Amino acid sequence: MDFIQPASWADALAVKAATPSALPVTGGTDVMVELNFDARRPEMLLDLTRIAELADWDTSTGTDHVQIRLGAAVTYTRVIGELGERLPGLAMAARTVGSPQIRNRGTVGGNLGAASPAGDCHPPLLAAAAEIEVASVRGTRTIAAEDFYTGVKRNALQPDELIRAILIKTRTGPQQFSKIGTRNAMVIAVAAFSLALHPDNRTIGTGIGSAAPTPRRAKEAERFLAAALDEAGLWDSRGALPAAITREFGRLVKQAAEPIDDVRGTAAYRLHALGVMAARTLTWAWHDYRQNGPAAGRG
Ligand SMILES: Cc1cc2nc3c(=O)[nH]c(=O)nc-3n(C[C@H](O)[C@H](O)[C@H](O)COP(=O)(O)OP(=O)(O)OC[C@H]3O[C@@H](n4cnc5c(N)ncnc54)[C@H](O)[C@@H]3O)c2cc1C
Repeated sequence: MDFIQPASWADALAVKAATPSALPVTGGTDVMVELNFDARRPEMLLDLTRIAELADWDTSTGTDHVQIRLGAAVTYTRVIGELGERLPGLAMAARTVGSPQIRNRGTVGGNLGAASPAGDCHPPLLAAAAEIEVASVRGTRTIAAEDFYTGVKRNALQPDELIRAILIKTRTGPQQFSKIGTRNAMVIAVAAFSLALHPDNRTIGTGIGSAAPTPRRAKEAERFLAAALDEAGLWDSRGALPAAITREFGRLVKQAAEPIDDVRGTAAYRLHALGVMAARTLTWAWHDYRQNGPAAGRG
């Protein structure tokens, strides 16, 4: 197996164009497991750890929002330590990944590359309407997170493309992430759910994990909740959320899922868990919004 370690992004793209079967490796926390178990034998490993710009993030201001451009190789530890206030949903999810060692090596780009339905980054990226910036020698394009996941452990990358960055608007309201596993740490999600309230444009974002062939949004639930908050004037009044709204939101989130029975849990349990997580995350997020208004979600 060849091992190539380009020092620049242009060189990495050139290698990927010349050898599309080259397997990118960043933190290696998925790749090394696959190699050790002989689940993969790529002809070439393309190590991206020398490319400095992949491992950094910066901020840019669009017409109506501030966004983070998160390099594909930024680790979970850095997301937690540096972006908890601006990307609270992703930081919450990052805190639940593996162990400190895995969080020191594992990256958001690697989670997207693996595209596991159980990957913890996907629900908050969906809820925040993130975009994935991918590149090849042919050019650069962005893919909406909801179009990125194309099947179980499959994504929208072409064979010559690499993930460059993740573009995520900074929070404009509370965000939440909830994950159920068979124990409290070092666990693959049995089911996960992320919620983002966007008071700036009065919309809702959701992301379901580990309960369908791909991570996915609960679009009907998003539409219902946004309309219910509008109709009751709750964005402005910041009044108590009627229990019927929370209940219906939970029901619609469950309806969007398509779980299976597997070693980690049954489809029925996953559906039940999703309904509970949807109701709880909404209760937490709304409590935060009532207390803090548009400043909610900080920290
Ligand atoms: C003990 C243990 C615990 C874990 N716990 C969790 C957990 O709780 N939650 C969770 O979601 N995951 C977990 N994982 C899985 C893994 O840590 C994550 O998926 C992590 O985000 C992978 O990042 P990485 O940088 O290590 O990826 P790598 O292993 O380097 O790569 C993963 C995949 O992405 C591809 N890839 C990497 N970078 C790029 C790029 N720039 N462009 C295109 N493709 C790329 C690789 O080719 C590979 O297919 C765990 C793994 C282990 C070993």
